[in-house]
Amino acid sequence: MKNKKAGFTLIELMIVIAIIGILAAIALPHFSRIRERARESKCFEYSSLLSRTAELYNIENKQYPETVEQLAPSLSNQRLPLCPSQGRYEWVKGTEEGLPNGKKVLCTVHGCANDTWGG
Ligand SMILES: [Zn+2]
Repeated sequence: MKNKKAGFTLIELMIVIAIIGILAAIALPHFSRIRERARESKCFEYSSLLSRTAELYNIENKQYPETVEQLAPSLSNQRLPLCPSQGRYEWVKGTEEGLPNGKKVLCTVHGCANDTWGG
């Protein structure tokens, strides 16, 4: 006559928990990297928007704005987009020749979206 009860032993449960822990340790850094890449992508989209808005500002006012904040009234909701990683948008003087006035939008956290205007 068998006297075994159906179920898991303590060792079996500990092995399963250890495997779940190892998988979580592998997956979590990967998730945070992907999240940061998504934030960077969103930030570049915003800095690209600001660069293109600066071009429109130049067409309307015959000069580029002095600060990025001057672009706010030209944007659809009247305020500057915010970098998802709490960076600020600033002007930097470009080094490439042939840029309209050598300025482009830079995020203090992520840097420039592109080396050229409109990017
Ligand atoms: Zn940013």
